[in-house]
Amino acid sequence: MNATLAAAAARSVKTVKLLINGEWIESSTTQWRDVVNPATQEVLARVPFSTAEEVDAAIRAAQAAFETWKSTPIGARMRIMLKFQALVREHMPRVAKILTAEQGKTLPDAEGDVFRGLEVVEHACSVGTLQLGEFAENVAGGVDTYTLRQPIGVCAGITPFNFPAMIPLWMFPMAIVCGNTFVLKPSEQDPLSTMALVELALEAGVPKGVLNVVHGGKDVVDALCTHEDIKAVSFVGSTAVGTHVYRLASEHGKRVQSMMGAKNHAVVLPDANREQTLNALAGAGFGAAGQRCMATSVVVLVGSSKEWLPDLVTKAKALKVNAGVEPKTDIGPVVSRAAKARILDLIEAGVKEGATLLLDGRDVKVPGYEDGNFIGPTIFSDVKTDMTIYTNEIFGPVLVVLTVDTLDEAIKLVNKNPFGNGVGLFTQSGAAARKFQSEIDVGQVGINIPIPVPVPYFSFTGSRGSKLGDLGPYGKQVVQFYTQTKTVTARWFDDATINEGVNTTISLK
Ligand code: NAD
Repeated sequence: MNATLAAAAARSVKTVKLLINGEWIESSTTQWRDVVNPATQEVLARVPFSTAEEVDAAIRAAQAAFETWKSTPIGARMRIMLKFQALVREHMPRVAKILTAEQGKTLPDAEGDVFRGLEVVEHACSVGTLQLGEFAENVAGGVDTYTLRQPIGVCAGITPFNFPAMIPLWMFPMAIVCGNTFVLKPSEQDPLSTMALVELALEAGVPKGVLNVVHGGKDVVDALCTHEDIKAVSFVGSTAVGTHVYRLASEHGKRVQSMMGAKNHAVVLPDANREQTLNALAGAGFGAAGQRCMATSVVVLVGSSKEWLPDLVTKAKALKVNAGVEPKTDIGPVVSRAAKARILDLIEAGVKEGATLLLDGRDVKVPGYEDGNFIGPTIFSDVKTDMTIYTNEIFGPVLVVLTVDTLDEAIKLVNKNPFGNGVGLFTQSGAAARKFQSEIDVGQVGINIPIPVPVPYFSFTGSRGSKLGDLGPYGKQVVQFYTQTKTVTARWFDDATINEGVNTTISLK
């Protein structure tokens, strides 16, 4: 294609807008990136890398809006969230369709992505009780002490490609319902479903400047982490970027929570329900093409459960690889050609380092979608803990299997792995489960549940190498993250109060 034709073709593709002070703005940047359907390579839109001035304008709009939004009554904020949850519910199938087109996951799973975010919006509707302070009467003679939970200011959110609905919904609804204003930076790989949700938030009545959106990569993220008016940064993404964001934003005095990469183990005891366990392993290992931060990526077979391996391969082989829009698809494409190349390199490393490739998904063909970024389910056995496929997060449909003799060995193995996002135990023994939940050093534990992502009245509690910062997304923890506790100690005098004279000690009487 010559340059003129290419420019014309580029013009016909829609552009993703910025949202600054309630206005949809075409970026003036010269740097753009294509948003690509991973099943077909169709260019769906072009997303800008916002200029420094645009990022600054978004933050300043949020700062200006904070002055009035912080004192908007709780009931008014809550009613916007109630409307927002109704709109997200109503538009779930439409948003899911956009999500499947840009991200690749199956339509039912895309609806699940929106739904898990919607649950957080529902939770945000309880802000009246979530943001309550505490009160202690008469802590000294006529003295009461109470706490206020006040919003902190402009907060920023930086989100990954793998849950373009759920993770933005982890962030901005809870931040703004607590009285803060927000600048969101969606993943540049799949911003369209996120933007559909932002449009619904405006329709629900989020006032101008309260929610702003900028797009881009490192430069924009670094600007958010260092800007003087940003008070808190919430990041979800890879460990390398999350560590950088945590350090940079902390150095600049921000509150930061950084939810990062994972290597989630599923430990299988021989007394587990065989069929249910194998179904869970196949679903959690290969669903969403393995691109979930809570995907099962390592299976640890204890004792005689190693005999189940051929059955796991049979289950995996039966999964249907196809475009996410096609009915009965189990595994869609991975998000990009670069992601596919990276996963194939890791599989190659596994073969070279001597693991046994029991099931090889590298040559999968999908009729009608020959250009898609597909990888079929892949299983390695005889994996050692120093192999590249064990030490790295593969983030693709690849399960690595290790065997040990006892539950104690399994616990030791999991605890030695630096990540701490999720872990599962499959057993019918209550005693084994109780020992496991107590001794395992991982923040989210599933007992016969392969993907133990907590519902939003609890918090997401990944730990160790999977998280930096003390407080997690949603639940009670995120209300602490997005508010400052102020403690008031008060005494009121009336004319009848006895005057006790000057008190030169620190004690309250
Ligand atoms: P990523 O780290 O590449 O990108 C995340 C965000 O950071 C994006 O918005 C991106 O634009 C930005 N970014 C990319 N490079 C940057 C740089 N050099 N400096 C500053 N910002 C940069 O992650 P991803 O590939 O989009 O998402 C997959 C990763 O996210 C996986 O590691 C997965 O485990 C993790 N994840 C973790 C959780 C969790 O809760 N722990 C949830 C979802 C995803």
